[in-house]
Amino acid sequence: MTDTPDFSWSRRRFLGGAAGIAALGSLATACGSGSRPPSSDGAGASPLTSASPSGASTGGVDAELIARRYPGLKPFAPPPAPPAVKPITVSAVHPPVFSRVPITEKVVFVTIDDGVEKDPAFVQMVKDFQVPLTLSLADTLIKDDYRYFAQLHETGFVSIQNHTLTHPLDMPRLSPARQLEEIAGQQEKLRREYGTTPYLFRPPGGNYDSATVTAAREAGLKGMMLWKESMEIHDMQYQTASHRLRPGDIILCHFRGPAQLKGETMVQMMANLYRHIQAQGFTVANITDYV
Ligand SMILES: [Zn+2]
Repeated sequence: MTDTPDFSWSRRRFLGGAAGIAALGSLATACGSGSRPPSSDGAGASPLTSASPSGASTGGVDAELIARRYPGLKPFAPPPAPPAVKPITVSAVHPPVFSRVPITEKVVFVTIDDGVEKDPAFVQMVKDFQVPLTLSLADTLIKDDYRYFAQLHETGFVSIQNHTLTHPLDMPRLSPARQLEEIAGQQEKLRREYGTTPYLFRPPGGNYDSATVTAAREAGLKGMMLWKESMEIHDMQYQTASHRLRPGDIILCHFRGPAQLKGETMVQMMANLYRHIQAQGFTVANITDYV
């Protein structure tokens, strides 16, 4: 019950930076604007770990194919070996709230939320890059096609985490019982659909209060994952004035398509993100190796 992360920091902190996303109004049900921080649940033993240690691009990423399909991109460098001791310790008693991982290597973490867009080409992209991704899914946005996310899960490069049943953008306005229902209900659905038990929770819009942390804990979640940057169509919104990635930053993206991206596709948006990451000399690692 304590160990609470600073709520003053969390609430609304990023709404000011939401301007860039205002155009995506149609995403009202999605992560809202200004994306913010929190979690991805956990599959401590996610397929990532088994598929490729630390989700690395160690094996078989075809540089020529990458360059041809995704102009300007190359395979990501393999991430460093996972730390012997995870920098962030999750807890079933006091779930920590975090928005980055305290490390010094030039590594960032990519998280994708909601589930509105279901672009088959993105499944191929995940296989092409072999980059570890964390998906925080909301039932109401994925239930028209659970199979799509199963395909992503089966690539072995994604971990699936909890993002509520109905994606309420202001969890603190719900009663504690309703908050618990949103989180515990989604745990059940994700277990049923994907055979995985999330351990990280990301509150919709990054909005949470102490009752949310309590509900997450009661639902069996062990950490709340926020974020440091959010990906728009071409650019990222940074929380820092330097507008640079920092080691350990958690980046938020959404499953979005032409309807939300002014005609651009999910794959184009992700390629834009990957260009930003590569241009700043970073690679991508698996958050479940660090949290
Ligand atoms: Zn969301």
